[in-house]
Amino acid sequence: MSKNLNIEPINNWMKIEKNPLVISGPCSAETYDQLFETCKQLKSYGINLMRAGVWKPRTRPGSFEGNGEEALKWISEIKKELDIKFTVEVANTNHIELSLKYDIDILWIGARTTVNPFSVQEIADAIKGTNTPIFIKNPINPDLSLWMGAIERINKVGINKIGAIHRGFSTMGSSRYRYAPLWNIAIDLKSNIPELPIICDPSHICGNREMILETSQKALDLGYDGLIIESHIDPDNAWSDAKQQVTPKVLSSMIKKLKTKNKNEKNNTYKHLLNELRDHIDDVDKEIIDVLAKRIDLVEKIGEFKKEQELTSFQVKRWNEITKSRINWAKDKNLDENFIKNLYKLIHLASIDAQNKVIHKKKNKIKI
Ligand code: PEP
Ligand code: MN
Repeated sequence: MSKNLNIEPINNWMKIEKNPLVISGPCSAETYDQLFETCKQLKSYGINLMRAGVWKPRTRPGSFEGNGEEALKWISEIKKELDIKFTVEVANTNHIELSLKYDIDILWIGARTTVNPFSVQEIADAIKGTNTPIFIKNPINPDLSLWMGAIERINKVGINKIGAIHRGFSTMGSSRYRYAPLWNIAIDLKSNIPELPIICDPSHICGNREMILETSQKALDLGYDGLIIESHIDPDNAWSDAKQQVTPKVLSSMIKKLKTKNKNEKNNTYKHLLNELRDHIDDVDKEIIDVLAKRIDLVEKIGEFKKEQELTSFQVKRWNEITKSRINWAKDKNLDENFIKNLYKLIHLASIDAQNKVIHKKKNKIKI
């Protein structure tokens, strides 16, 4: 259990009948008929927990901003009619009061709200005492502390039915994703709070239909607890996020293609094999650490030399040579080019730090 947090295991508060857990429904609740028909089809494919945006956080004004309370009335009717559960996004006290009034089962905090501690605290104060389950999406910007902070604020008021949703991050530069999935941040979150369920939102990560399956599979391979995927009876004509929504039928065929994985090995022979391989990996990692320590020793020697010669610690020509040669060596070993490039960026930064320490080390002269 993580320090100061009290998270209830998801199986205690949600009966998950199918593996993987899939939450689905439209980006926005547009009309009663659109919502009813989408949910009816989803239910026929075995999905019982629906999502729908009632208040839509749009980047610029003028586009569809949700039907508000009207949509909650539809949800409450459809819930009874189809015997299904619902989750909606909330961003302030009014949203929470109305969602609870219309018997919404699970709330979620959107990416644009998680970034703002004032808003998250307002939400925490408004749900205090209700023990309503709540999902917390990652903040738009890649900041693990903000994500953790939001979880802590909600948990601190006594809400312990909490899940996290990884919906990707805004990052610099071009990417094939709409919001880049930064799997390491989600892995760090899980390492800090192992009992916290994590759900992947491939729809907002991808921003298109084509990549949803591969992204969902990646999440399951990493041990995610579920998926939240946008669906619509007529995706092309959706009022928001049209490019990334799929029909319930397409969703169902995608789910059939997904391979679910076990978190723990069942068979003892495999367990032994796995342990043996992990022992080998431990040995290899020790070698890597030894080699890195040797590299830093050499770097420090070069630091002494640069100090004598009054040279800068960063030498662009040498750095370019390093990148080029290491990538070539890695190619010969079938290692991924980007992996080696990123690894060497880290090694090089650490080397510059080590050299700067040598260069700026003061001599311990005794002043008389
Ligand atoms: C959504 O789920 O429709 C939504 C607005 O999500 P996010 O907060 O991830 O942008
Ligand atoms: Mn959406």
